[in-house]
Amino acid sequence: TTQVVWLRNDLRIKDNPALFYASQNGPVEIIISVTPEQWRAHAESPAKFGLRADLITLVTHQCAELGIKVSLIEADYFSDLPDKIVAFCQSIHAHDLWFNQETPLDERRRDTQVGNLSEQHGITVHPQATDLIVARPVFSQQGTPFKVFTPFYKRWLQILSLQDRTPLPSPAPQGKPLDISHIDLPWHETYRNDLWPTDAESIKQRLWLFCHHKESHYNDQRDIPSLAGTSTLSPYLSLGAIGPRELLFAIEYNCDQAGRDWMSSIWLKELAWRDFYRQLLLHFEALNMSKPFKLETDQIVWNSPETTFQAWCDGKTGFPIVDAAMRQLSQTGWMHNRLRMIAASFLTKLLFIDWRIGETYFMNTLIDGEFAANNGGWQWSASTGCDAVPYFRVFNPTRQSEKFDPEGEFIRRFVPEIASLDNKSIHNPNAESRIELAYPHPIIQYKEARQHAIAAFAQLNSTK
Ligand code: FAD
Repeated sequence: TTQVVWLRNDLRIKDNPALFYASQNGPVEIIISVTPEQWRAHAESPAKFGLRADLITLVTHQCAELGIKVSLIEADYFSDLPDKIVAFCQSIHAHDLWFNQETPLDERRRDTQVGNLSEQHGITVHPQATDLIVARPVFSQQGTPFKVFTPFYKRWLQILSLQDRTPLPSPAPQGKPLDISHIDLPWHETYRNDLWPTDAESIKQRLWLFCHHKESHYNDQRDIPSLAGTSTLSPYLSLGAIGPRELLFAIEYNCDQAGRDWMSSIWLKELAWRDFYRQLLLHFEALNMSKPFKLETDQIVWNSPETTFQAWCDGKTGFPIVDAAMRQLSQTGWMHNRLRMIAASFLTKLLFIDWRIGETYFMNTLIDGEFAANNGGWQWSASTGCDAVPYFRVFNPTRQSEKFDPEGEFIRRFVPEIASLDNKSIHNPNAESRIELAYPHPIIQYKEARQHAIAAFAQLNSTK
């Protein structure tokens, strides 16, 4: 009988466990759930909506080539899905439902509800591994989840070395290619599709070209925002357009070719952070509910956002590197990792604004907004999280700028009004230049702001 495969944030046909294993059991039909209100409630950005639409279109065309039909299941919220999915399965007399699991709590609850109702109607559900590189939970020898990244990573590598790493193929053709009419989605959002094209070849090329040319320089270049030193694959990864074994295959193949040990790849280590944060959501329920990992930090009395928050959003803080970062975000929907850390540290430590406000703003704006990584990154920066930066380490935006954008190349790109300044003063223009170039004065004094944050955290620690 027909096997129904339900796609969510795994919008790909290759290396997709649910799709592949379902296709081993009979002819496949695909459903893609489309829940705009739920995604908006999760603060998903217009850019991500736009990218999602194009990836849904891509998958639908790829499936049509294989003779596989794709239907959209439209609902407002996750809670509206069980009835609709069961009704769909019944309408085509299907008794098997396949999907790849996800780690955030709302998604897990959704799957449980769909699973329960399906079973009540005689439909067997077949949940498959999540989109992690190491799909099963990584535990310490005591059987507990790791709270520190480095030991997690060591164990993760051990498991990975023994794991089957071959990408799963696309399902075999099921018949003649299907004609598909126009795919009409209930939103029309735009995004920078010049930066993130959605044809299969471009996506694959980005991975392979990065692994071939850039991966070996990643450690030296990853922190320099003016260079294209990172993969910029995050928008695709957040919607599952590339599978975990495809990533591994590209790393292993290219490292082998270059005579390097793939297990020592620093890029692979960065990908382990993605697994780490996603797994945390499984083990520490409170993280899914806007709670800090270090619960005591919930006692902090943050500043009210008011005008400083708006200046941060608009890239008008008067700190050039922060402003360049925030303008990169609003202009492209993406921000370099070093800058995410600088911008988040600035908001939480120097403006002393609640990390959750920044977290939501990022989700609302990022094309790669992804709950686990975003929450992890914000809590890391705010010193409220698991294995976070120590609270007394407060980034100095000017020093960060001098170190990671030494010639001001990145600043010049996104803060053109100060592009004429020399390589030294561009990091912190003097008062005269600011007036002359119509660039804002700093909205805070670094030293005082830093002391305030450290004192607030220190007080917390002393009362613990
Ligand atoms: P690369 O350096 O090429 O890394 C490859 C992939 O590994 C990334 O695409 C991503 O999937 C994963 N990855 C890399 N670093 C991390 C990390 N620190 N944590 C988790 N995964 C990682 N990443 C998101 O995908 N979505 C987010 O919403 C997000 N929000 C963040 C918020 C803050 C405050 C911080 C500090 C980091 C955030 N990150 C987020 C992590 C990281 O900044 C991005 O994954 C990275 O900048 C994406 O660029 P890239 O694809 O070129 O990364």
